[in-house]
Amino acid sequence: MTDEHGPEQAAAGFREVYGAEPAGVWAAPGRVNLIGEHTDYNDGFVMPLALPHTCLAAAAPRTDGVLRLHSAGAPGGVVELRVAELAPVAGAATGGDRGGWAAYPAGVVWALREAGLLAGAAAAGGADLHYESTVPTGAGLSSSAALEVATATALNELYGLGLDPQRLARLCQRAENVFVGVPCGIMDQMASACCTEGHALFLDTRDLTQRQVPFDLAARGLRLLVVDTRVKHALGDGAYAGRRAACESAARTLQVRALRDVPIEELDAALARLARAGADETVVRRVRHVVTEDHRVEQVIGRLDAGDIRSIGPLLTAGHASCRDDFEVSCAELDLVVESANEAGALGARMTGGGFGGSAIVLVAEADAEAVSKAVTEAFGGAGHRAPRIFPAVPSAGARRL
Ligand code: ADP
Ligand code: MG
Repeated sequence: MTDEHGPEQAAAGFREVYGAEPAGVWAAPGRVNLIGEHTDYNDGFVMPLALPHTCLAAAAPRTDGVLRLHSAGAPGGVVELRVAELAPVAGAATGGDRGGWAAYPAGVVWALREAGLLAGAAAAGGADLHYESTVPTGAGLSSSAALEVATATALNELYGLGLDPQRLARLCQRAENVFVGVPCGIMDQMASACCTEGHALFLDTRDLTQRQVPFDLAARGLRLLVVDTRVKHALGDGAYAGRRAACESAARTLQVRALRDVPIEELDAALARLARAGADETVVRRVRHVVTEDHRVEQVIGRLDAGDIRSIGPLLTAGHASCRDDFEVSCAELDLVVESANEAGALGARMTGGGFGGSAIVLVAEADAEAVSKAVTEAFGGAGHRAPRIFPAVPSAGARRL
């Protein structure tokens, strides 16, 4: 697939669909999060890296206010919309994917229009877009953000909007939150827009300060495997909203703006205070996850800055235990990846992304990568699960023109 995934193929796809030349081809990657899970709606820290898997957008401007969208990965042919008429579906905030796949790119155009960015004659004219993506969908690897950011990056240049990657990511998040109706944080869009090759992106989700942290796995003889469990458990959406609400109510009880403002040194006191205030025992555990997870991000950064990638393994595994036991967003398949990989000699492993299925990451010495992959696959077979999809996460570039 990757052989055939490039600007020429996307341009050829565009020609086939629209019978004309695209003005260009833009790429935006999927991501995995190294550490910092469910912290991004607590104003906390995250540390994603971009995957080599990208969503390509071949695009050309129009002059008649029409937006045409086509994806090689979606059935149903070309979706045609009028830019001036784009509006979020009433009640979309209660459930994702209301308008089908086209809601993601249409939402981006809507967000640009709402921000007053399409007032110019050229920008009001609409566009034709054709997408080809190698980011697995629904695997917790942010195919949705890749689709949004590819769209925004293409239109940014086509219309000469001059948006920086951070602004662009925020507009994409707004598209997903309001237009599609998925209450996601800012991590996925920032990762797709801002990551650089050979680095993990440290992101403070409160003010979007960021730093590229060197993450040269190959130089250390290491590999980071992505294990896509190929399952998605249905409880996902409501459970996410519930976690979010629990964190927000705990922050109110603790009289902090967000859980990010509880320092690790004050965790025990904060938990005691919550208990005294009558907080549910599960809320206490949710808080413990968020505060310790932010701390783990800081510890990982310290080790990466010291050039010691190997030693982050136990922090990854500790992060998994916290997601599993305190935040309760793991599932049997994700737990099995972590257990079987660590038993087979991995340096550490954890679920990545929202949880309840999707993907896990495994840090492993290059020499052990094959044996560990085999052990995980066999463990899945033994448990009666479908074979997982396993591939290396090579830290790659963020959104760009090809
Ligand atoms: P994730 O972002 O983890 O892959 P989401 O549920 O957030 O999972 O987003 C997946 C959805 O994004 C798909 O169901 C589809 O609607 C849309 N999507 C992503 N990539 C594409 C693509 N290349 N073509 C069409 N739709 C896509
Ligand atoms: Mg997504």
